[in-house]
Amino acid sequence: MRPSKRLDRIPPYLFAQLERRIAEKKAAGIDVISRGIGDPDMPTFPPIVEAAQRAVADPGTHQYPSNRGRQDFREGVAAFYDRRFGVTLDPDTEVMPAIGAKECIFNLNLAFLDPEDIALASDPGYPVYTGGPLLAGADSVLMPLVPELGFAPDLDAISAADAARAKLLFINYPNNPTGAIVPEGFFEKVVAFAREHEILVVHDNAYSETTYDGYVAPSFLATPGAKEVGVEVFSWSKGYNMTGWRCAAIVGNAEAISAYWKLKSNIDSGLFEAIQLAGLAALQPEVDAEVARMNAIYTRRRDLVCDALRAAGVDVTSPRGTIYVWAPVPPGYESAAAYCEHVLEEAAVVISPGGAYGASGEGFFRISLTTPDDRLTEAVARIQRLG
Ligand SMILES: *Cc1c(COP(=O)(O)O)cnc(C)c1O
Repeated sequence: MRPSKRLDRIPPYLFAQLERRIAEKKAAGIDVISRGIGDPDMPTFPPIVEAAQRAVADPGTHQYPSNRGRQDFREGVAAFYDRRFGVTLDPDTEVMPAIGAKECIFNLNLAFLDPEDIALASDPGYPVYTGGPLLAGADSVLMPLVPELGFAPDLDAISAADAARAKLLFINYPNNPTGAIVPEGFFEKVVAFAREHEILVVHDNAYSETTYDGYVAPSFLATPGAKEVGVEVFSWSKGYNMTGWRCAAIVGNAEAISAYWKLKSNIDSGLFEAIQLAGLAALQPEVDAEVARMNAIYTRRRDLVCDALRAAGVDVTSPRGTIYVWAPVPPGYESAAAYCEHVLEEAAVVISPGGAYGASGEGFFRISLTTPDDRLTEAVARIQRLG
């Protein structure tokens, strides 16, 4: 048996070894606390679950869905974008469901990249921004997220040659893993850059509903001209505690969505209609209070983590969005991975090394807030004891 050369291009999964070590520790009876993964620990909100239960019981949802999506789903997403972001979308041409943001982002690589092309990818960033281009037979060029620019890439630093080869540009705010929110004026710069170089912008909007301290995250599409050059991938996963449901939507540029549709009709058969109806229920104004309640929980956890890190001498910025705290590695460790190893060995707490999200993440570590308060308190106490 010989798997494809395409698969050889994918780097080995960085957490594989770590997972083995965690399993060994657990088998040895050690109480390991995992705060590496960003997967909400609380259940999906009741109105969404109830809508899904009704939808699953309805035989009308049991057949192949259309890849285009249900009319009511598309209209519901458009109504939400209008209410929430002040963005007008045509439900017939500018909205389509996806089987999670991951599927959508990956398939956009297949739909837009030829072997000589590149995707410009935020570094550090979600792994599909770099793995997707490789599997599409193309390549990625990393755009370091510069702390001095508020964890935005310096678009002026992209070479003329790279800009000319680029067909896609991946950005994400509020940002995983840095927790940064979009700096003032950055989306405008992206629109101008994409227009000049004829690049499709893909704004990965996984965290717009997960924000704190009164911050309200904008849609990229609210930027003048954005719809001419870009799409946004909206995910229900994090904001509505729906990671397992695989519900997302691509919105924005109709031509790009049409290309994605053409590709997808050859790959999968759409999003289960009951999931579309659950997603639609999540976007109703009645659910806003549930989202706010969840964000209050994350705010409390964020403060717990940030206060403890500061007490331990770590110079951390409290994020105003996402479910992550991104903090500099304390002095005395040769790499973020070495520090995370030390924390795992001595405190039995799993945190992620920044380098796992791209070279520019080196020197930082990421703590996820998706752990119940008592476990989070225990984990933080253990890290504090490490000094
Ligand atoms: C979690 C996450 C995703 C995945 O979203 P799904 O809809 O669950 O596939 C995509 N992008 C970022 C930045 C994420 O953090």
